[in-house]
Amino acid sequence: MSVTVLQNFIDGEFVNSVNTGQYIDSHNPATGKVHVKIPDSTKADVNNAVEAAQAAFKTWSKLPRTRRSNFLYRIADILESRLKEFAEAEVRDQGKTITFATNVDINRSVYNFRYFAGHVLHAEEKVGQLDGVAMSYVQRWPVGVAGLISPWNLPLYLLTWKIAPCIASGNTCVCKPSEFTSLTAYMLCSVFKEAGLPNGVVNMVFGSGQSAGEALVTHPNVPLISFTGGTVTGKHIMASSVKHMKKLSLELGGKNANIIFDDCNFEQAVETSIRSSFWNQGEICLCGSRIFVQETIYQKFLDAFIPKARDLVVGDPNDSKTFVGALNNLKHMEKVLMYIDLARQEGGVIECGGSRKILQGELSEGYFVEPTVITGLPPTSRVAQEEIFGPVVTVHPFTDEQQAIDYANDSPYGLSCSVWSENDRRARRVSESIQVGTVWVNCWLIRDLRMPFGGTKASGLGREGADYSMDFFTELKTICLAN
Ligand code: NAD
Repeated sequence: MSVTVLQNFIDGEFVNSVNTGQYIDSHNPATGKVHVKIPDSTKADVNNAVEAAQAAFKTWSKLPRTRRSNFLYRIADILESRLKEFAEAEVRDQGKTITFATNVDINRSVYNFRYFAGHVLHAEEKVGQLDGVAMSYVQRWPVGVAGLISPWNLPLYLLTWKIAPCIASGNTCVCKPSEFTSLTAYMLCSVFKEAGLPNGVVNMVFGSGQSAGEALVTHPNVPLISFTGGTVTGKHIMASSVKHMKKLSLELGGKNANIIFDDCNFEQAVETSIRSSFWNQGEICLCGSRIFVQETIYQKFLDAFIPKARDLVVGDPNDSKTFVGALNNLKHMEKVLMYIDLARQEGGVIECGGSRKILQGELSEGYFVEPTVITGLPPTSRVAQEEIFGPVVTVHPFTDEQQAIDYANDSPYGLSCSVWSENDRRARRVSESIQVGTVWVNCWLIRDLRMPFGGTKASGLGREGADYSMDFFTELKTICLAN
């Protein structure tokens, strides 16, 4: 298989890293073979990218919003015309299935640009009259050069969710995609070129978090950092950026509860729980990895859920029949398997799965893990408390509404939750008692981009989405005019 060697994208040009000849190997998770080499960029590369972004900011920030919006529409159109190519690359790089990459990752990446292209044209500003005394209005302006740092689970989707509002509102940026999944970000740079995006508006520096990431976070001329990734890294970034008092948006880990009452639409709850447990190999921060089922239907739920989990097709990510592809990287797979072992040690019952899956032929060294359902563990066990981020769920019985709420809230995280009940009042009562950023009632993963998205507790700081992203990427000034 041929190996793609990436270059950084700085000031509208593909350039080698200053750290000449130093690369990080990136593996195709389905084969375990190296398929991309990523420049191991250093502080000097980040400095060059920030300089280019600062220069571009002078004109980009002054461009009328209609013109900025047109660039975003153009980027969306070009990306859409190359959807298949991008989806196939995301599969090779991330391990996810082609169905998911096409319908979710790349489709949504296109929409991210289109959405913010429209939003920036239609956003309303606040104006207030104060009892004939004065009139106030809000002036909004872009902050400067943003550092955008993204993880490996939804590589292009999450990066474009940051780039689109960042540049729509007049900022420029330096991006640092995950070293495990940099390929589609690299390809996106060719879309920027084709769209005629002015040089330096988006710059891409590839490499490790410790080198390129750290240099971006500590750079004095990068006043805002938007980060999606793990909680440990988020805390570290928060500490590193304190010196320059940067604006921070942190979208971090989760350990989300899926609460199933006995008055739910049972078929729907089971079907959706299969998706919320195992979609994208469980590598979505919003997956419902703790399933709480009312004791009256606990056994019925297990009898329906476990055979479906066991029957999910784990295999070639390029086969449209595959439901569970490969985990993203070797270290991550080992972490997931370690948690399954820990579940055994903690006294859990592995109801299905529980092992690495070895496939045949060129996939024999791929990072595949069987969908795993674990029962018999207390909600306080480590396996039920710590983020696993793989195709592994624990199922626990609960007695009543209050116990379900207590279990769901007994977590260091607070990203999302699903509640299943046909009793609207109960669903509302429970939803309003859960300490998370998003609650889905009788559904999962429906996203309305106008709504705030983010987490409480160890799941992060700040909110993304429509006006919330705009608030992050702009400064607000109140101007008060006396009558
Ligand atoms: P990670 O924290 O290891 O890495 C994320 C990014 O941060 C990568 O680009 C990495 O290179 C960079 N990084 C690492 N150390 C850094 C440092 N010291 N300074 C600057 N950058 C640094 O996370 P991951 O393993 O790539 O992603 C998985 C995690 O992301 C999970 O915890 C998951 O829940 C979380 N996640 C959260 C959301 C959300 O919206 N809340 C969405 C997706 C993923």
